Amino acid sequence: MARLAKLTIEEIRDEVLSLIAFDQPDLNIIELSDDKVEISGRLFVMPKSPENQPLGALDQFEVRIVIPIGFPAIEPLVFETGGRIERELDYHVNPNGSCCYSVWPAWLADAKDQSISEVVSGPIMDFFRWQYVRLNGIDAATAIGERQHYISGLLDAYAEVLDCSPTQKSVSSHLKVLRRKWLRSRWRCPCGSRKKIGVCCETNLRKIKGRVSPEIAEIMQEKLNSQSR
Ligand SMILES: [Zn+2]
Repeated sequence: MARLAKLTIEEIRDEVLSLIAFDQPDLNIIELSDDKVEISGRLFVMPKSPENQPLGALDQFEVRIVIPIGFPAIEPLVFETGGRIERELDYHVNPNGSCCYSVWPAWLADAKDQSISEVVSGPIMDFFRWQYVRLNGIDAATAIGERQHYISGLLDAYAEVLDCSPTQKSVSSHLKVLRRKWLRSRWRCPCGSRKKIGVCCETNLRKIKGRVSPEIAEIMQEKLNSQSR
C-alpha cells in the first residue's frame, strides 16, 4: 500500500542534498527554514531513454523549486526563472510563474518511491522536456500527448489511476470507496452497475486500493473539489 512518509525538514534537506550530489550539480539550497527548503540554479534536462543519457543534457533551465514541510503530501512548487517560458496556461505555466508539472495525487499513487529525486527526474523532468520540445518548434501536443488543463485533465488522469470512466460522478464514487480504510463486499459498486461490490468489481477495486491509500484518495478528492469550484 502506498503510504505517505512524514518527513522532517532535516530529512527533506538531506533528500535535496542527495539530488544535488547525484543528479543536479548546478542547483543550490538558497533557503532553509522550519517550513520549507528552497533551491535554485540550473536544472539539466536529461534525455528520457537511459541509452541516450550518456550523451548529456538536452537543455538547461533556470529554476527555483520550493519544497514545503508536508512533502510528499504537499507538492513542491516549481518556477522557471530564466524567462524562456511564457507565463501562459497554454504552456502549462500559471500567471505567477509556477509550473503545472503534474497532477500531484495521481503521481503519488503511481510513484515507486515518493522522494524528491523521483519528483525531479519524473514529472518535473517531463515538464521541462516538453518545454524543450516546444521551444524547438515541434508540436509537443502530438509528440508527447499533452494533457488537457483543469478539470478534464484531472479527471482523465484520475480515471487512469482508478480504472474508471473520466466523469466526475464515476471518479468521485470510486474515491468515496477508496477513502475508507476497508473495502466491504456488501457496499454498492462505484462503477454504477447497482450491484454489490462483492459480485462486481471487487478484485479490481482491491488491486487499485493497493496503490491508492485512503490518504491519497483524500488528497485526490480535495484537489477535485478545488478544481470544481
Ligand atoms: Zn462494479
